[in-house]
Amino acid sequence: MEKYQTLLYYKYTSIEDPETFTRQHLDFCNSLDLKGRIIIAYEGINGTVSGLSSACARYMEAIESDPRFEGIHWKIDDVEEPSFAKMHVRFKHELCHMGIEDLDPNELTGIYLKPEDFQKMMAEADTVILDVRNTVEHELGKFKDAITLDIEHFRDFPAKVKELEPLKDKRVLAYCTGGIRCEKATAYLIRNGFDNVFQLDGGIVTYGKETGGKDFEGKCYVFDKRIGVKVNSVNPSVITKCHICGTTTDRMINCANPECNQHIPMCENCGWEYDGACSDSCRQHDRKRAYNGTGYYMKGDGTLVK
Ligand SMILES: [Zn+2]
Ligand SMILES: [Zn+2]
Repeated sequence: MEKYQTLLYYKYTSIEDPETFTRQHLDFCNSLDLKGRIIIAYEGINGTVSGLSSACARYMEAIESDPRFEGIHWKIDDVEEPSFAKMHVRFKHELCHMGIEDLDPNELTGIYLKPEDFQKMMAEADTVILDVRNTVEHELGKFKDAITLDIEHFRDFPAKVKELEPLKDKRVLAYCTGGIRCEKATAYLIRNGFDNVFQLDGGIVTYGKETGGKDFEGKCYVFDKRIGVKVNSVNPSVITKCHICGTTTDRMINCANPECNQHIPMCENCGWEYDGACSDSCRQHDRKRAYNGTGYYMKGDGTLVK
């Protein structure tokens, strides 16, 4: 039987009339029966799409044949089922909202490091590893000894850079999930006087595939129904504990109360016992959704994904 794949990719490139392109691109994705989430902006494209391998192949071929996307890099995962329930293609003003004008990674960005070079450099003196992702992400998994920031959104990153001032003279190795946020985060660091700034090319996802993932602790948070993916097959560990009983678990759910919807680590047993809710009050909430053991719910209407 034909298998499914999930593709993760981005490209900073100039797109004229992105709104028209957004509509055309949605039609194209639908014609291939792909599911996923794609953002299109004047500054480029960022997406995760999932579908049959043959559809993914046709999608990649079409994108690669477009000169605007020359050199695009794909992170390809084989999956048991599509990682999304619907297909969304949206126009936005920025690929990942940072709120800083005039940062073009094609003009200014940190030095790219191939995963194996990143791995070597991590152990060197006067080097700090900087996680530019959000709290919910680095709580599930991160590089050993990485500096993490308590932020809810990427747009909170610039305000945190002040706290990083003492690291100005160090060599900074930045990383994120697939690389897209680092392109801008490192540009912002350089603009603010950090002058020894590197970024993990292709992000954690590529690091895991190319090096076996040594020294990545826990799982890599992803924004689809898998929630967390495995990275490290060399010295894996689990850094999260069940929100209810405290046992070590890397299983993540969304609270079944749609008004809470908090991402929490929760073991299998507590998931059933609390019926997918993070607390007694959430369990008793009027709008609590049915729990099917996955803890993943659609955004918006709150219906359960099968
Ligand atoms: Zn538990
Ligand atoms: Zn809750």
